[in-house]
Amino acid sequence: MKAVLQEKFRATFGREPAIIVRAPGRIEFIGNHTDYNGGPVLGAAIDRGVWVALAPRTDGVWQLASAQKDGVVRLRGGDLTKHSGATSWVNYPLGVIDALRAFGLGVPPGFDYFAGSDLPLGAGLSSSAAIELASALALTRAAGAEPARDVLVKACRHAENHFVGVPCGILDQGVSGFGRRNHLVFIDCRGPRFEVVPLPEGVHFWIFNTHTKHALVDGLYAARHRECMEAARVLGVGLLVEAPLGALAAAAGRLAPVAEKRARHIIEEIGRVDATVRALRAGDLTSVGRLLTASHRSSQMLFENSTPELDFLVDTLVATPHVFGARLTGGGFGGAVMAMTSAAFSPALAAGVAAAYEQTFGARPDILHTLTADGAQVL
Ligand code: ADP
Ligand code: MG
Repeated sequence: MKAVLQEKFRATFGREPAIIVRAPGRIEFIGNHTDYNGGPVLGAAIDRGVWVALAPRTDGVWQLASAQKDGVVRLRGGDLTKHSGATSWVNYPLGVIDALRAFGLGVPPGFDYFAGSDLPLGAGLSSSAAIELASALALTRAAGAEPARDVLVKACRHAENHFVGVPCGILDQGVSGFGRRNHLVFIDCRGPRFEVVPLPEGVHFWIFNTHTKHALVDGLYAARHRECMEAARVLGVGLLVEAPLGALAAAAGRLAPVAEKRARHIIEEIGRVDATVRALRAGDLTSVGRLLTASHRSSQMLFENSTPELDFLVDTLVATPHVFGARLTGGGFGGAVMAMTSAAFSPALAAGVAAAYEQTFGARPDILHTLTADGAQVL
C-alpha cells in the first residue's frame, strides 16, 4: 500500500511525498453505549486503515486528493470553508486542521496531500477516525511538531464533532490513535484515559456487515441517551457509571420499567467490560467469549438496540465451531456483528454463516477477517 500510494502521489503531484503515515480502523470489542454514561469501553485497532502521503509546499497552496475520490481539490491555504457534495470528504482533513489550530498546533502553510484506504468507507469500521488520525499525524509531523497522542486523539474527535458535525464518542479516535498489535485499547471515557490490554495469541476477528440500518436510528439513539440520563437522575447520580451495585434494587418501584432495563444494561455492561479486562489478563478466552455474547444478549433483551438480522448472526456464529463469542458492534439498530474466533475458524465456516443468513433474509452480509494492528504511525 505504501508503494502504491507513493506512486499515486508522484503521478498526481509530480514529486515525492515527504512523509507517509497510516492509521487503522477499529471495532468496538465490548462496552455498548457505555461511553456517554461515563463508563469504560474496549476497542481493537484492525489491520485495515487509511494512509496519507504529504509534502509541504512553499507557495501557501493546499492540494488534496484521495484514491477513493475523483479529482484534486485545490485551495488557498487557510481556506477552511466547509465543503458539500462530491468534495465533502475534504471536510475530514480540513476539520483536523481547524481542530489542530484550536489546540494550538500548527500545520505547514502549504501542502500536497494524498489519501488511500484498504478500509471500506462508511461500513462502521471508522474510516472517518482513520483519515482524521492519519491527517493529524502527517500534518503535525510535516510542521515539525510531535504532539502527545492524547492531544492528537482529542483534536481528531473535536474535528469530527464540530467541523464534520458527527456526535461520535472518543472510542473511534482513541483506538485509531492508541491501538497496538496483539492488544486491545481500554478507554475510561470520563478522563478520557487510554490504556492497552494484551490480547492472547491466536485471536482472530470476523466481521459480518448486514448493511441494514433502522430508518429511525438517529431518533432511537437520542431516545436511549434520554432514557439513560433519566435513569441516572432517578438513581441520584450524574452518570450511570457512578451508580453503585445494588442501586437498581434500592430504586425498585421508582424507575419506570423501560428506564430500569436501559440502566440495568449499562450498569451490567460496565461490569462486563471490567470482567473482560480481568479475563484477558488471565488469558481466559472462553470467559472473554462468554462476556461478548452476554453483552449481545443484553443489547437484545434490555437495551433493545439489536435487530432480527444481528440476532440471527450471533445465534448462528455461537453455534459454529471455533467461535469464542459474538456480539453486535457499534451503536446497533442494524450494522455489523463481530465474532472473536480461534485461528481454526475458516473462510468456509464464514461462508456457511453468510449462506444461512442469505436463506433467511435474502441478502448476503459482507465478511471481513482481521487481526489487531498498531495505532497511527509514521511509516
Ligand atoms: P465510517 O467511519 O464508519 O467509515 P463515516 O461516514 O463516519 O463512516 O466516514 C466515512 C467518510 O470518511 C467517507 O464518506 C469520506 O468522506 C471519509 N473518508 C474516509 N476514508 C477516506 C479516504 N480514504 N478518502 C477520502 N475520504 C475518506
Ligand atoms: Mg465514522
